[in-house]
Amino acid sequence: MLRRIVSLVIMIALVIGMVPVSERAIAADQNVSKERPKYIIDAKYDDQQQMITGHLVLKLPVKPQEKLDKLVFRLYPNAFRDWKWGTKSRPSAPGWLTVNHVRVNGEKVAAETKETVLHVPVSKSLAAGKTAQITMDYQLKMPKGGTRLNVYGNTAFLAQWYPMLAVKDAAGWHEEPYTTTGDPFYTQMSDFKVTFHVPQGYHLITSGSDPDGDSKGPVTIEQSNIRDFAAVISKDYERVQGKSEKGVKVNLWYLKGMEDVSQELHDAAVSAMDFFGKHFGQYPYKEVDVVLGETGYGIAGMEYPGLVTSVAKVPTQKGDTPAINVVAHELAHQWWYGVVGNDQVKEPWLDEGLTTFSEFLFMHDQMGENERDFLTKVAERSDEVYKTKGVTSVESLDKYSDPIYALMVYARPAAMMWSLMDKLGREKVMRILSTYYQRYQFRTATTHDFIQTANQVAGEDLTDFFDHWLYFKGTLAKDESKKHHHP
Ligand SMILES: [Zn+2]
Repeated sequence: MLRRIVSLVIMIALVIGMVPVSERAIAADQNVSKERPKYIIDAKYDDQQQMITGHLVLKLPVKPQEKLDKLVFRLYPNAFRDWKWGTKSRPSAPGWLTVNHVRVNGEKVAAETKETVLHVPVSKSLAAGKTAQITMDYQLKMPKGGTRLNVYGNTAFLAQWYPMLAVKDAAGWHEEPYTTTGDPFYTQMSDFKVTFHVPQGYHLITSGSDPDGDSKGPVTIEQSNIRDFAAVISKDYERVQGKSEKGVKVNLWYLKGMEDVSQELHDAAVSAMDFFGKHFGQYPYKEVDVVLGETGYGIAGMEYPGLVTSVAKVPTQKGDTPAINVVAHELAHQWWYGVVGNDQVKEPWLDEGLTTFSEFLFMHDQMGENERDFLTKVAERSDEVYKTKGVTSVESLDKYSDPIYALMVYARPAAMMWSLMDKLGREKVMRILSTYYQRYQFRTATTHDFIQTANQVAGEDLTDFFDHWLYFKGTLAKDESKKHHHP
């Protein structure tokens, strides 16, 4: 995500006043399809009530040794029911997600909702090594003026819009509360089959490969191996179509009044897909959609698998200009978050930092921008923030206040990666990123995994370097931090 105060330069100015996976485990993990949950969703959109009536079937492969006494789902839209995170971001009308008729393998169970968490009790009916089937009905009321999940004019932005299976790992089920700082969502790779029923005149823009034209009757979209499934249901959007060098369909969706930037932003989107693909590794899906427009308070852009949103223009010193950096940022998230996942609540820097670096690299190479002076200031300011507040770049979301979040989690790691290019040379840093992408694609990586990959590819121990940049430990040798390298 990028915040509404898009320019990091402006933002910084405001601030001034687990266990490593062995190679064998990696190889074994490549055949994951039998381990992925499958969501089969039937969703009817009522544009008058601004409601979704849905039915969910979740086919859940239970791991051989797994002992489950409950299942946990996240009902993120319930954050918008009784808003408690500040008045500016408060929705003008509440939204929510209610669930009923929950069944596990056909048996009725007494599921319990507490805010954004749904507990589904499980009896001995969940056999390890078999696929369990969980079914439920749900009703989603769209909030007005919500963040991400929102309705503007004749467009509904469906983000985190269905009951999402929470992640269970060594730390247990992830039930961390919603926050307005960052993207407080954590999900696992899944397969989706979603059938939409929308009123006449609407078309669908989704995480999958979308049909052309307005829908006449139900539309079913299937997409495998993605972390979540987002959709935009609209009467209003026009599209610029094209393809990347590797044949990925790139659609840019715009509204009336955005014609002056639509072609330029589409060109930038295609160029960004090519650029990231070339440097980090191939985008594994057939299509990506860039949807321009407002999607709610505080949001300049947001990433979902196969679909990103971005404002059309950003304020700069030269006035409002096409939001190329936002589009590039959100598309870079297809690599960092979409394909290589991370716990965005626990280690938000891992996707946001690499994404901001990717954005800057694109803006440097393709748009002729030079962020070096800015990144030098970032290093200094983040040092000051660490000294006064004791907050590093590797903290969970709840440790950051909004004003320092982007500095510590986005900008500092971007400065770190730039400094790593000074130290190792650009070619080696690209190899670190492409190796990391290859090794952890369709999985969840940690800070430890990233550093271990960097050490291996670099052929040297970079612990001191990462300790300095991420954890503010020790000091780097002066000659290293001052040496200039022009990529
Ligand atoms: Zn981001």
